[in-house]
Amino acid sequence: MTSLQEVRVDRAAYRHNLETILQRVHPAKVLAVLKANAYGHGAVELAKVADQTDVSYLGVVSLDEAVRLRQAGIRKPIIAWLHLPGTDFAEAARQNITLGLSTADQIEAAAAAGAHTVHLAIDTGLGRNGATRAQWPHFFETAARLQAAGKIDVEGMMSHLSNTSVDDDTDQLQVFDDALQTAADYGIHPRLRHIAATGVALDRPEARYDMVRIGIGGYGLSPDDRTSAELGLTPVMRVSTRVAQIKRVPAGTPASYGYLYRAPRETTFALVPFGYADGLPRQASQGGGVLVGGRVYPVAGRIAMDQFVIDVGDDDVHIGDEAVILGDPQRGEPSATLWADSAGTINYEIVTRIGDRPQRVYVDQQRLDQPRVEEHIGDRHQEQASGE
Ligand SMILES: *Cc1c(COP(=O)(O)O)cnc(C)c1O
Repeated sequence: MTSLQEVRVDRAAYRHNLETILQRVHPAKVLAVLKANAYGHGAVELAKVADQTDVSYLGVVSLDEAVRLRQAGIRKPIIAWLHLPGTDFAEAARQNITLGLSTADQIEAAAAAGAHTVHLAIDTGLGRNGATRAQWPHFFETAARLQAAGKIDVEGMMSHLSNTSVDDDTDQLQVFDDALQTAADYGIHPRLRHIAATGVALDRPEARYDMVRIGIGGYGLSPDDRTSAELGLTPVMRVSTRVAQIKRVPAGTPASYGYLYRAPRETTFALVPFGYADGLPRQASQGGGVLVGGRVYPVAGRIAMDQFVIDVGDDDVHIGDEAVILGDPQRGEPSATLWADSAGTINYEIVTRIGDRPQRVYVDQQRLDQPRVEEHIGDRHQEQASGE
């Protein structure tokens, strides 16, 4: 590793996770969610992986994200589901991108622009995008009229759950069924009905309908309190750097801004060059964990923009030693969830916020027998830097 920091993205792990979930939700289809640069993993690279699996659809939020995937040569159907007024839907027509549409105006604009394939988005209770019950008559009437005129094909209907509780999700599923029934009354019969994201997709077969949308699970992370391993998933992202400086310090020596941490006795401070500019939440100061030489050390003091300190005591730690910031707990590496818990957030936010400064390296490493830490470190010759 020549760069200061590395984000290693394991394409084989992504494929493994998608295939695991495909099997688990069968016969429901899978839409792989690749929004927000694939939750920080690299959308084009992972879309290429998903493109070679039995995944049926790729999903992103904006039309721009969708076009970028199409221009990178992705062949599978792609849907984009959040749009501002004035969005150039003709680009969706040109690039063969499906639109998730939330209002009658959007349906009219899509039809006028020649964007043919649409999914109708329903607000079943989350209060975000999608048509509310009061809007359904005009929404479905518009869709039915333009479909009858051959302008659009209502291929799908979608909604999104709040995950507030099982009962609240059940209420939303009921509203989704009502929306489907109402749409049918207008002559609209979507072939792809989808509402479940990873959590509900894994746990509630009745919520799978025709397709489930898989984001976090594909990246090998858990949507809830279970571990990745408990779900049969392998974390795809591994973030590492190297110890940049070592110093022996007397008892009482403070570390970093605000002197939140002071050495309890004579000890060794190691400097880890990774900061909040790289995506670590500053709220995780005094928390989180970094794997160096087989042990995990919490942050000593504040996380700064570019670096933080760990107290390695009398351990045999050297400049240049690898410091793994997050990865697969099955290999002894800190999990994204460990950082999330320290910062009062969720693993989604941890991986999605990993910045652009670390070099992204794409590897194909997943094996059925997970390598242990030592083997893994000895495996570096197997890496292939991405050709992108
Ligand atoms: C992000 C997103 C998903 C994916 O959710 P996960 O919990 O990551 O699987 C699914 N559907 C919609 C509408 C989303 O915005």
